[in-house]
Amino acid sequence: MTDKYAVIGNPIDFSKSPFIHGEFARSLGHDIAYTKILGPIGGFKEAVDALRAAGGRGINITAPFKLDAFAYADERSPSAELAGAVNCLKLDGPRIVGENFDGVGLVRDTVHNLGQPLAGRRVLLLGAGGAARGALLPFLAEGPAELVIANRSDGKAQELAAIALRHAPAGTSVRASGYGALEGQRFDVVFNATSASLRGELPPVPASVFSGCALAYELAYAKGMTPFLRLAVNAGVTRCADGVGMLAEQAAEAFAWWRGVRPRTEAVIESLRVPLE
Ligand code: NDP
Repeated sequence: MTDKYAVIGNPIDFSKSPFIHGEFARSLGHDIAYTKILGPIGGFKEAVDALRAAGGRGINITAPFKLDAFAYADERSPSAELAGAVNCLKLDGPRIVGENFDGVGLVRDTVHNLGQPLAGRRVLLLGAGGAARGALLPFLAEGPAELVIANRSDGKAQELAAIALRHAPAGTSVRASGYGALEGQRFDVVFNATSASLRGELPPVPASVFSGCALAYELAYAKGMTPFLRLAVNAGVTRCADGVGMLAEQAAEAFAWWRGVRPRTEAVIESLRVPLE
């Protein structure tokens, strides 16, 4: 029997999840149907209830419903609790379980696919929204030497740094910073987890942070060279990545959680990759 899954968002046309999960299922010989649901604003619960009633086994959640999904879950993973957001629900058990695989997908792409370790490295995280929050635990699990969180609204960076500090392993220093105070500081890896690139904007990060930087990572995907990546390249960074690998890796985590086998991601990453030029 065909197993039903879906992704819900608003808008949803852009979503690559049906393609990604379709490719995963095909590569593993699984029989699934994965659809897109345009969730009505204010109608998340009814839409997911309908999928469950139709036998749906799992659902991915994208903007603006990650908080609704958090509320919908009967129980949540530590990652989801810490992120305050759920991007994946398992619907076929007695209790609805919520997960957040965004951060784990980001770290898997960075460390495994791109071969850039975070252990012992100085890491700069720009932004303090949902994606940045989701990345905290997976980042800290790698044991960076330093994790600095910079955000436009300083209070949110302080809040995230305080949470991160509670989970930091011995040997990892964590602090919040304003953008201006980053001048003259250097980092090994810089992640842009702001949504600035979605509007073609540049977070006000000084170019000096890229001095000696091994990787500039833009979480947005399919945008080509964003202002952030261009700044990094102009500052001498030779390795850039966007969030396509993160997208594929979080999807692979969801697939594995739902179906017990982790698909390979290389082929979908390759076919979704937009050249950075
Ligand atoms: P949120 O809306 O939760 O957070 C947005 C963040 O961006 C806030 O910290 C905000 O700062 C900051 N910001 C927005 N505009 C600017 C600007 N012009 N200058 C500086 N800071 C700015 O978004 P998400 O966390 O959900 O998403 C962040 C990014 O991650 C997006 O690009 C998104 O596409 C990407 N993403 C990628 C995924 C993937 O699989 N590749 C998965 C999830 C997200 P402030 O608090 O001051 O408003």
